[in-house]
Amino acid sequence: MDQAVRPSRSEVEDAFRTVLRWTGDNPDRQGLQETPARLARAFEEYFSGYGEDPEAILSKMFEETEGYDEMIALRGIRFVSHCEHHLAPIVGRAWVGYIPNGRVVGISKLARIVDIYAHRLQIQEKMTAQIANAIDSVLKPQGVAVVLKAEHFCMTARGIMKPGTDLVTSRMLGVFRDNAITRQEFMSIID
Ligand SMILES: [Zn+2]
Repeated sequence: MDQAVRPSRSEVEDAFRTVLRWTGDNPDRQGLQETPARLARAFEEYFSGYGEDPEAILSKMFEETEGYDEMIALRGIRFVSHCEHHLAPIVGRAWVGYIPNGRVVGISKLARIVDIYAHRLQIQEKMTAQIANAIDSVLKPQGVAVVLKAEHFCMTARGIMKPGTDLVTSRMLGVFRDNAITRQEFMSIID
């Protein structure tokens, strides 16, 4: 992203003040005075993923694995993201698995990757693919499997109003795509 064209913090706070005024409320009343600044800080947190490079994080790999070549999977990684259409929360869990090809990464890195992509404006389909593609391109494993299950507040708390519904997306690469038994082994760990 071009840093030079990013608006300043005070421009962002002014924009939030405009939104507050637009709701019909008074942004100068005591309870709302600090809200634009708080919102700007919250947005910095929600969208901190733009400043991080997932491939750089995955590139620290370990090769002393004694030939380990079975599935490695991290289950139920909790994440909070925001949809790019409404900026509404997407709250869910991710299952990330791969079958190594001589190289593995620290398991916390799999959770970090989910977090980095979650802290960007997202649609779940794209986020699922991005996680799988990053692991595939850096680790070059025999296969990668990613499943995301998440509640989208743009449809549970507004619009069609269907709380309790989950969207499930998956991306299977390599042996997980080609081999039904391997894919089934991964799918069996998902609850
Ligand atoms: Zn949405």
